Amino acid sequence: MSIAPIPRSSIRGPCRRENPSGARNVHIGVTTEALPGRISPAIVLLSGVLAAQAGPAEAAPAKAVSTWEAARAEVHRGVLPTLQQRGAELRKGLSAYCISHGPSSGNAIALTFDDGPHPDFTPQILDILWEQQVPATFFVVGEMAEKHPDLIRRAAADGHCLGNHTYHHVRLPGLPAGTVATEIKACGLALQDITGQAPHWFRPPGGGTNTRVGMVARALGYRVALWDVLTADSGRPLAGEIGGRMLGEAHPGAIILLHNCVRQTVDVLPWVILALKQLGFRFVTLDDLLAPEPQDWDALMHELGIPLEPQAPVRF
Ligand SMILES: [Zn+2]
Repeated sequence: MSIAPIPRSSIRGPCRRENPSGARNVHIGVTTEALPGRISPAIVLLSGVLAAQAGPAEAAPAKAVSTWEAARAEVHRGVLPTLQQRGAELRKGLSAYCISHGPSSGNAIALTFDDGPHPDFTPQILDILWEQQVPATFFVVGEMAEKHPDLIRRAAADGHCLGNHTYHHVRLPGLPAGTVATEIKACGLALQDITGQAPHWFRPPGGGTNTRVGMVARALGYRVALWDVLTADSGRPLAGEIGGRMLGEAHPGAIILLHNCVRQTVDVLPWVILALKQLGFRFVTLDDLLAPEPQDWDALMHELGIPLEPQAPVRF
């Protein structure tokens, strides 16, 4: 088992192409709807005073060991042995790990912003969310976070949820497990270094996942979150089209995919948030939209009448 270098063809810059045409097929529909009453308390502490007082962007200090090298060492030490020793266990309930929406009861929806932080647009998005008192979830690219740690700290201080979107924003299916693990681990280490907290939500770039990616994410302690409202904003349509899709497709439990680096998204955000509020929706982070992870996958799958996936061997 070795950690292969990342093929250059796998690397996509943030927001270069984020339209996962097959993403909905990846999801196998077990959601937390089956777990009423287990939704975590929707308490979001918006301590934006800290953000308002934040100074100019800080330069990240040089590290003796890069985040990537540190992640690779940890993957060799712990993650790959874990995959080998606990493969069958990690695979249980894997089909339920890709979450694309929350409970259809209630009126909560979640805005998610991928591919940041962006030095121009993320501050504007944070301003709008703060003015509207709307919490959201940011799926962060690790190397971008290291370039703009002040924006990560501000998002955390404003009460937003921070998720992992790999270190280099690469498509993961087809990459060896060691490389997948290092991508996820390095982004997690970057966020932990900046905020002091390890993220626990993961979204694969482009929504690209498979059994191997799911097992690696699970071995690293993540839940995988996709989406069920695709605004296609990364294609840079007119702002009205983005807003129209959000209003047309929003529903209780919706997870809405947006991006940090699109001018039209920033333009439409204030009025579409107001319109969604007027329709009665309440904005929450993924932590507040989704129930805690089940502890007994066998029991849950049996209760829901969903067979476990066939145990075909997985190559690492
Ligand atoms: Zn992305």
